[in-house]
Amino acid sequence: MPIKLFNSMTRKKEIFKPLDPSLVRMYNCGLTVYDYAHIGNLRSYLTADLLKRWLEYRGFKVKRVQNWTDVGHLAGDTDVLAEDKMALAAKREKKTVWDIADFYIKAAIEDFKRMNFIDPDFRPRATDHIPEVIEMVEQLIKRGYAYVVNGSVYFDISKFKNYGKLSHNTINQLIAGAGGRVKKNPDKKNQLDFALWIADPQHVMRWESPWSVGYPGWHIECSVMVKKYLGDTIDIHTGGEDNIFPHHECEIAQSEAANGKPLARYWVHTKHLLVNNEKMSKSKGNFYTLRDLIAKGYDAKEFRYLLLSSHYRDNLNFTFKALDAAKNTVNSLIDFIDKIQGMKSKAPWNEKLHAIVIKTKLTFEERMDDDLDTPQALAAMHELVRETNKAIEEGTASEKNLREVYETMMAFDKVLGILKHEKTEVPAEIKDLVEKREVARKMKDFKTADAIRKEISAKGWIVEDTPNGPRIRKKQ
Ligand SMILES: [Zn+2]
Repeated sequence: MPIKLFNSMTRKKEIFKPLDPSLVRMYNCGLTVYDYAHIGNLRSYLTADLLKRWLEYRGFKVKRVQNWTDVGHLAGDTDVLAEDKMALAAKREKKTVWDIADFYIKAAIEDFKRMNFIDPDFRPRATDHIPEVIEMVEQLIKRGYAYVVNGSVYFDISKFKNYGKLSHNTINQLIAGAGGRVKKNPDKKNQLDFALWIADPQHVMRWESPWSVGYPGWHIECSVMVKKYLGDTIDIHTGGEDNIFPHHECEIAQSEAANGKPLARYWVHTKHLLVNNEKMSKSKGNFYTLRDLIAKGYDAKEFRYLLLSSHYRDNLNFTFKALDAAKNTVNSLIDFIDKIQGMKSKAPWNEKLHAIVIKTKLTFEERMDDDLDTPQALAAMHELVRETNKAIEEGTASEKNLREVYETMMAFDKVLGILKHEKTEVPAEIKDLVEKREVARKMKDFKTADAIRKEISAKGWIVEDTPNGPRIRKKQ
């Protein structure tokens, strides 16, 4: 079955076919590095990670780029008349903007690792691409899509016929919608025109340009980095739903006006994460970073599971009750994996359990192919766990069956990224003790068996007796 993705541009699920069958090109709008990533940001990056993992599971090669925005993203996402988020953070923390960027990039990489996100192939920083920005802005001026006023350069949206095609707005609707919110900027021909270059000789991050000393607008940075690392037309462009307008709409206008080619073939947007059914905000006290969750004793993979348990295009309401449930589920899955790995059994091959494995694999793949339907893919996996546990209890799961279940679970986890990859090696000394205890048990010398169990426990291990023999686990 082919992979289908919901394309925000057409508002339809479409069969995914890369332009070049040998390489999928994907760009993910990255973090503005003025603060820690909040858990809503992480939801959108999880979609990017999942998409890459699923495409690879299906045999595609993927080149993925996720940028850092370290200049030009203004508070309130407006332009020229608002302050740069980086500059505000520098004031807040009494550091230089460069230190702010370095600090939060490092922190974000730590968070992404904890979330078990696979590293993108490139992580370009906007400030490393100023010459390319200048080049693209010059191109836009030359082609008549941009104009210069008082050293700033604006994109003239009236020249780009399809402005609004991603957000499904007409220019008139956008003007009516923006009306009260946008502060009037007398330099602009149309208040919806957006800045490509902002003249500001006093700005904390500033560069020489043909028009003024200043800094680039937020949107142009992404257009430039997409082009440089992936080319004029890419396969997949992702972001949070709040990126659709204005950010992605502006990216499309710039890139397509400058390159004369479509920017992206599939637009994938992740819905908001709500906390207690409200949009996260620091003033409401419902704003969380991954670090906050870890400080409360949760593990990042538990949060990752929580995210996977809802579809990326559904609103997800984050609560600690839901996170507790995710924690229990992840722990029981890990216990299951540990239990069946290398489990001894004398039962003969179980054809019924084998058929369940095959069916689960098909369902899992079918659900993931259908626009990354993780909740249903997880449901299929849980069904497999239940059936396997039942067979273990009944003593009808053979070693070969268990190995098959284990390998299937691990194949799923290459996509899900929530289970332990490395099995904790049981030291020879512990294995010896477990064996001695088994001998004692067989001789019905329960006193010795119990003493050995205590010795094992004192060394940090737990031994449990199951119908299929002893199971050894490291204490948490
Ligand atoms: Zn972007």
